[in-house]
Amino acid sequence: MLILNCPYCGVDAEESELSAGGEAHLKRFGPGSSDGEFHDYLFMRENPKGVHFERWRHSNGCGKWFHAARCTQTLEVFGTYSAQTTEPPKELKDAITANRPGWTWR
Ligand SMILES: [Zn+2]
Repeated sequence: MLILNCPYCGVDAEESELSAGGEAHLKRFGPGSSDGEFHDYLFMRENPKGVHFERWRHSNGCGKWFHAARCTQTLEVFGTYSAQTTEPPKELKDAITANRPGWTWR
């Protein structure tokens, strides 16, 4: 079972307390963007076998959205952090790189 620590209330929440929100750190495109950019924003998502950044909501807890970094292959959770960021915290990226040599953020 997937267990994520909510960065807001500090609870180790089981998957049944959470709601998945898809890929984190999407770059949004709106009016003025090209058809290709808007298409990719709507439909194209990463689907890695390995490190992935996701949005989760503590729906049966505090109700807040947060981001989680985990491995889709091993289900190892690297960490969770506020959803109010445009990219993962440096400490988290460094920890993932130390654990997965060769991995880089985008
Ligand atoms: Zn919470």
